[in-house]
Amino acid sequence: MEERWPRIVTTRRPNEVAPNLLDDDAARRRFTWARAREGLDGLPGGGWNIAHEAVFRHARTQGKKVAVRWLGRHGERLDITYADLAVRVAKFANALNAMGVGEGERVYALLPRVPELYVAALGTLAHRSVFCPMFSAFGPDPIASRIRIGGGRVLVTTPALYDRKVRPVRAQLESLRDVVLVDESWAAAMDMHAGTYAIGPTPANTPALLHFTSGTTGTPKGALHVHEAVLMHHLTGRYALDLHADDVFWCTADPGWVTGTSYGIIAPLVCGLTMIVDESDFDGDRWYEILSRERVSVWYTAPTAIRMLIKAGMEAAKKRDLSSLRFLASVGEPLNPDAVVWSEQAFGRPFHDNWWQTETGGILIANTAAMEIRPGSMGKALPGVEAAIVRRTAKGVEVIDAPDAEGELAIKKGWPSMFVGYWNEPERYEKCFVGGWYLTGDLAKRDADGYFWFVGRADDVIKSAGHLIGPFEVESALLEHPVVAEAGVIGKPDAVAGNIVKAFVALKPGCKSSTELVDELLGWARKRLGTAVAPKELSIVPSLPRTRSGKVLRRLLRARELGLPEGDLSTLESSK
Ligand code: ATP
Ligand code: MG
Repeated sequence: MEERWPRIVTTRRPNEVAPNLLDDDAARRRFTWARAREGLDGLPGGGWNIAHEAVFRHARTQGKKVAVRWLGRHGERLDITYADLAVRVAKFANALNAMGVGEGERVYALLPRVPELYVAALGTLAHRSVFCPMFSAFGPDPIASRIRIGGGRVLVTTPALYDRKVRPVRAQLESLRDVVLVDESWAAAMDMHAGTYAIGPTPANTPALLHFTSGTTGTPKGALHVHEAVLMHHLTGRYALDLHADDVFWCTADPGWVTGTSYGIIAPLVCGLTMIVDESDFDGDRWYEILSRERVSVWYTAPTAIRMLIKAGMEAAKKRDLSSLRFLASVGEPLNPDAVVWSEQAFGRPFHDNWWQTETGGILIANTAAMEIRPGSMGKALPGVEAAIVRRTAKGVEVIDAPDAEGELAIKKGWPSMFVGYWNEPERYEKCFVGGWYLTGDLAKRDADGYFWFVGRADDVIKSAGHLIGPFEVESALLEHPVVAEAGVIGKPDAVAGNIVKAFVALKPGCKSSTELVDELLGWARKRLGTAVAPKELSIVPSLPRTRSGKVLRRLLRARELGLPEGDLSTLESSK
């Protein structure tokens, strides 16, 4: 796949700020964690606290600067300065103390993207209890199971969400002692508490965040992260997203997904810039309007959204003044190469793909601003991160050094935002580590220059007639066809081949399904991929099932195709 796409070197505009990472390889060689601490404060008595680095220290030095520009569903626009945010965060932390919440106890949020969500997150971190965000679109069961698993002590939610989703399951939630409602009385309730807060000792390994995985491969796991992760949030904010203090940054992810916390709350504030929070969900027109009106300079989003923008056509982008955009990044799913090329044409800037997981707490592999982009590649390991392609053996793991060899992506243990446990599942956690490596469960290749190429999740890889086929490659080939908007590929058991490749495809608006089109798409894929890899079967469907974080649920496509039980559907995008 790699050879067919031109490499992209972004030309910088005159007067454009220099990238934080000027020379990738040199930075990698020079890197030390001691140096990575520069630009952060640390607590006076030692240790790190995320809320201190994100809010309190900036409140002193740049209190008047806008930290959060909140855009409400109905056109509201609210600016919260660093000084104002610090007061709100302090009040919330004091409120937790007043409720008798102890250090390390879990504070859950079930909120739309309203300012109080951000205040609750940072207030919980200042207080040193553990913050656990949930998507407000979750139904009662996923809410109850997450609160039960993590033993949630406090829940912050709205009266309407409480009535619809929590009340029916409240009796099952024995650990839940306090429900804090975001309603008209919120401001008065918060005003009862002091607007300053002295953060207590926060050793580096103090638990900070409990994040549930997306549930793409099965039941979501609760990954626990510590305050020291802020080192990684800061480093990756600067290096992988190229954040500068003057940027207007927009991460479109909801904090219910780890991206929306690490990069929709922590990293941008730690970098001291102005971040956009949009309460609404995806809407192409609204998004272009926000990018252009708010003069967004760095934009972090996901392939599903990018594909929806592509589906809507380039004209919609060309109509707008998007000249403020300097750096575009994507995460969560493989970013197909034609989307990178499309964005270069539509915005004059390519999307920079990067890779990480809930478990890794922050970006580990990225196309930084200093790099030549190879469309279809996730980029290189960031400074301070050692990534390798490995094979599991009877004795442990073996590192595969040969370029372009396929294997499991592994990360050398010990980066600061590494998860410290799956909540209540110590054995599952232990199994992720072998011989000093964290095994990611993703298959990838590394080329001779150190660029990583995603192959697929180990669970999704298809064994067909002696070949190992990664769904991503097949999906990418289908997505290059002008009528295809979305594609999902699975293995379907077959008596002769072991498995055959089966594709599901959703079409762009105005395109009609027909048996001729199915044949054409199958032929298109055969021409690009060869008969061994191309799908043997293809169904045109109205849309593909996705998680709330926007990932194609291949396990559900497979279960439905084979008439098997559908498994955990709590994270399905459309389930209410
Ligand atoms: P679960 O672990 O519950 O199955 P999940 O793995 O989808 O859910 P996340 O932690 O949100 O939950 O997603 C991480 C995964 O997303 C990675 O392991 C990888 O499979 C995929 N991913 C993330 N970024 C990229 C990328 N740039 N390219 C390809 N895949 C990516
Ligand atoms: Mg996972």
